[in-house]
Amino acid sequence: ALTAGIVGLPNVGKSTLFNAITKAGAESANYPFCTIDPNVGIVEVPDNRLQKLTELVEPKKTVPTAFEFTDIAGIVKGASKGEGLGNKFLAHIREVDAITQVVRCFADDNITHVSGKVDPIEDIEVINLELILADLEAVEKRLSRVEKLAKQKDKDAMAEAPILTRLKETFEAEKPGRSIDFTEEEFKIVKGFHLLTVKPMLYVANVSEDEVANADDNEYVQKVREYAKAEGAEVIVICAKIEEEIAELDDEEKAMFLEELGIEESGLDQLIRASYNLLGLATYFTAGVQEVRAWTFRKGMKAPQCAGVIHSDFERGFIRAETVAYEDLMAYGSMTAAKEAGKVRQEGKEYIVQDGDVMLFRFNV
Ligand code: GDP
Repeated sequence: ALTAGIVGLPNVGKSTLFNAITKAGAESANYPFCTIDPNVGIVEVPDNRLQKLTELVEPKKTVPTAFEFTDIAGIVKGASKGEGLGNKFLAHIREVDAITQVVRCFADDNITHVSGKVDPIEDIEVINLELILADLEAVEKRLSRVEKLAKQKDKDAMAEAPILTRLKETFEAEKPGRSIDFTEEEFKIVKGFHLLTVKPMLYVANVSEDEVANADDNEYVQKVREYAKAEGAEVIVICAKIEEEIAELDDEEKAMFLEELGIEESGLDQLIRASYNLLGLATYFTAGVQEVRAWTFRKGMKAPQCAGVIHSDFERGFIRAETVAYEDLMAYGSMTAAKEAGKVRQEGKEYIVQDGDVMLFRFNV
């Protein structure tokens, strides 16, 4: 499964956020195939449509889809030179698909800040620079090998060399790999380099309890937003401490608590959805009387591959998928009515599944 790694300097609220994630945790009985690892937290992806489908179909059981966060502790200044947990830390980041960077935007004199003062931009730059330096080293190593091969007219090397050079120059200018606008073709090659700063990044501004409702008045948050905007990255504002409390509440209590705080959706729920989108993930549904369920797929996946998310037999024996868009099903109020209106389509092997599709797979066993 795809996963987002949580990083950040010490004392910014990572453990607090990760605790909230673990406490909010998905009911593991529903996800027997998920990783069992103390550093991985599995959460359910919030989706109002699932509730609506449940009201419509009245199944015995409803199962949301899940998403994984990995806790990556231990980055400090000098990590790229092996300081702190250095290399181990970078190796963990290499394995995740997106990076969620927690940034301290709360002032609290009782909690020491590693560099002595709260300065979110400096913090972000410390981390980003470590990642850039690690990438620079990797690219330089590869480039020296590739240049020799390119001289011998090796095709792959000749394709790689200019890309590596461009990356090297970008890193030397202390910019991340994700700031380069690669073509699809180039990006395929770049992926093979397993660089850290090419992974998509999301910033989590951690604010104090009393500021969470009016977070945009917080000057630290404003600065983080500005910084992220220049990078084309997204910012989610949370109060990790409150999220830890919310995670222990049931749905009804949670709704009341959020209303009291003056927030519409919990920061964690926003973070889950943003991370999900950042990774190019989307949701389709199956809606039977036994079970209404949400399934995760990568945007662009075709019907048989999506069927394979449920079971590999579904993919192998795929015949077709009876498909109705969630909006159409809701507009007509029942599967029968949607069918009569011609909104239920018979889709074949080449169909590219859309977010919100409600699907019934036909397959040979
Ligand atoms: P980590 O080192 O990044 O994992 O940081 P922790 O999660 O351990 O948090 C460091 C300290 O900051 C702890 O004492 C937390 O209780 C406190 N803390 C974390 N988030 C918040 C917050 O949103 N508001 C306040 N006031 N304190 C926080």
